[in-house]
Amino acid sequence: MSLRPSLLDPLFASATSLPGVGPKLAPLLDRLIGEPGRPARVVDLLFHLPTGGIDRELKGSIAEAPIGDPVTISGVVAAHYPSPPGRARAPYRVLLEDESGDVTLVFFHAQCARLEKTLPVGAGRIVSGRIELWDGRRQMVHPDRILDQEALDRLPAVEAVYGLTEGLSSRMLGRYVEAAIGRIPPLPEWQDPAWLARERMPAFRTALEAIHRPSSPAQLSEENLIRSPDRRRLAYDELLASQLALALVRSRMRRAPGRLNAGDGRLVEAIRQSLSFGLTPSQERAVGEIRSDLVSDRRMLRLLQGDVGSGKTVVGLLAMASAVEAGRQAALMAPTEILARQHFLRIEPLAKEAGLGMALLMGRDRGAVRRKVLEGLSEGALDIVVGTHALFQEGVVFRDLGLAVVDEQHRFGVHQRLALGAKGEAVDILVMTATPIPRTLALAGFGDMDISVLTEKPAGRKPIATRLVSIDRLDEVVGAIGRAIAAGDQVYWVCPLVGESEALDLAAAEERFNGLRSVFGNSVGLIHGKLAGRDKDDAMASFVAGETKILVSTTVIEVGVDVPRATVMVIEHAERFGLAQLHQLRGRIGRGDRASTCLLVYKGPLGPTARARLETLRETEDGFRIAEEDLRLRGEGEMLGTRQSGLPGFKLARLDSDRDLLEAARDDARLIIERDPELVSARGEALRVLLYLFERDTAIKLLRAG
Ligand code: ADP
Ligand code: MG
Repeated sequence: MSLRPSLLDPLFASATSLPGVGPKLAPLLDRLIGEPGRPARVVDLLFHLPTGGIDRELKGSIAEAPIGDPVTISGVVAAHYPSPPGRARAPYRVLLEDESGDVTLVFFHAQCARLEKTLPVGAGRIVSGRIELWDGRRQMVHPDRILDQEALDRLPAVEAVYGLTEGLSSRMLGRYVEAAIGRIPPLPEWQDPAWLARERMPAFRTALEAIHRPSSPAQLSEENLIRSPDRRRLAYDELLASQLALALVRSRMRRAPGRLNAGDGRLVEAIRQSLSFGLTPSQERAVGEIRSDLVSDRRMLRLLQGDVGSGKTVVGLLAMASAVEAGRQAALMAPTEILARQHFLRIEPLAKEAGLGMALLMGRDRGAVRRKVLEGLSEGALDIVVGTHALFQEGVVFRDLGLAVVDEQHRFGVHQRLALGAKGEAVDILVMTATPIPRTLALAGFGDMDISVLTEKPAGRKPIATRLVSIDRLDEVVGAIGRAIAAGDQVYWVCPLVGESEALDLAAAEERFNGLRSVFGNSVGLIHGKLAGRDKDDAMASFVAGETKILVSTTVIEVGVDVPRATVMVIEHAERFGLAQLHQLRGRIGRGDRASTCLLVYKGPLGPTARARLETLRETEDGFRIAEEDLRLRGEGEMLGTRQSGLPGFKLARLDSDRDLLEAARDDARLIIERDPELVSARGEALRVLLYLFERDTAIKLLRAG
């Protein structure tokens, strides 16, 4: 149940509550502005901003009206020319004239009776549309509006134009938006009046009205919209809601003062000694930053960001060792069972040597196994536990959890991070992510979480040679991997998600597996999401042990798997993967000191964007460049749609032009929480309305829970 104030009910009512939105139109609106499983609502219409405007003012005489631009002209209906009999596909034409000249209105598949009624001969009419020249004569195909003088007087001079879906006209949408504006209740002002005055920003409702009821088409041009105080006001509302929600989470996590989660360094030193390598400078820096968080009396909430292969795991491990030194427990959570097991196998020997108790806990563990781990955690015999999200289910109780490390998961939402923190007293949290998050996105997604970045890879890594190969040359690919395994290398072979059904994906992977088996026999293994946990472990273990040389998989190996001897990565139907995903996959190789090769096998013909994407990958291994290029290429694709340069998860704010607002919102949010942590002042109350309006309800629950 939502605790949303009833004040906002009219805005969160279904769009069908608006006049004219019946059972036929509702699905169209759902498709345009709803979300899967959530039909369009009144508020979605309000936030569906127009993409331009049309001038409805009369544009002088017919002869002078510009060709090609939207115009509104007036004249007298002079004659009708129905389609000749037997040629139903020829258009129905109507001649409109004034003293200066004439224009032919052209209608395909016309209903004669209706045209005779709307355009009676001899009557004065006003029409809007684009005039074009056809055989030197002026014509207007399907005018988008035909009115008499009286109807024109009731219309706004300028009309907003909306991003559309098949079957919905801009005019209909405009009517619904207009009705939606009528539903806006009187709202308290949640922004600081001084800030609004300085930025010349209007009130929320005024801003929406100004944008949906433009006074000139120029007002809604791309350049003007970006700078428009009306749009920026709305974008700022959205950004402040999100930053405030994040600030609330953060302040709740930090309210309980942090505890000392680092000891004398003995354990950390022992683990460092047993590593076969020295840390890179940025690993050293991250370890230092984490240590100062752990010893401070503030709780740690830190993001460790580093490209694939940059060595995040060992940094996380040293942090856990610190917590254990201080007499507490540490937990490492991985997104998949495969990864959890891999981490466990890595860390266990080090932990054993240092005399630590350590266990693995996964969702599939039952009975005695599970009971034993749970006991160890609650009684304190276990110092470090590695697992999947099963770690944070109910029933898992720690004696004294000091640090939670979350691996490879920037997808976690706010509440998952909260669930972690709730397992202990003032738990310090370290989130490790391989996905390079551009600064703006990190700020929008994590608020002012502290960030440590691993900027370089461990020395001695060889660059990965990346090649594009057409599927027609599969034989050559098979030949090449034959040579690679003969030379002692190992190979990942990734089959794509087709998307329609998992069964199909699986069938494709199995077919490839059988094909490769017929060539390479038992040295081929198969792993996919449908395998039982044990079988997954076995398949992975044989590959790690080098018993299988080629591992065919669906994308289950996407994140984190670390087998240094694997030096060849074949990605089938590479054109179907996202750039970031390809980069992650490729990051599975190039981990040892041998040269590595990535073969991007595609099915042609490739469109220009698909080719550009794959070429980006061939040219660089730099995750940041790839992420930026990805945004750019996707951005261009999305320009065709309605949502330009959007910030993921945001409806109004933009990645390109609202960075300044994002930073202002962060500072504003921090200040608000400092002064009024429970949001109980008058402005605080108004800000609660804002949080609901932009659906950041999770944060409100925190307030109530205290
Ligand atoms: P990721 O950041 O992608 O999680 P991992 O932590 O899995 O990377 O590390 C990748 C590989 O690099 C592992 O085999 C790890 O042991 C190794 N490694 C980590 N740090 C260093 C280092 N400083 N020097 C050499 N190898 C390192
Ligand atoms: Mg990793």
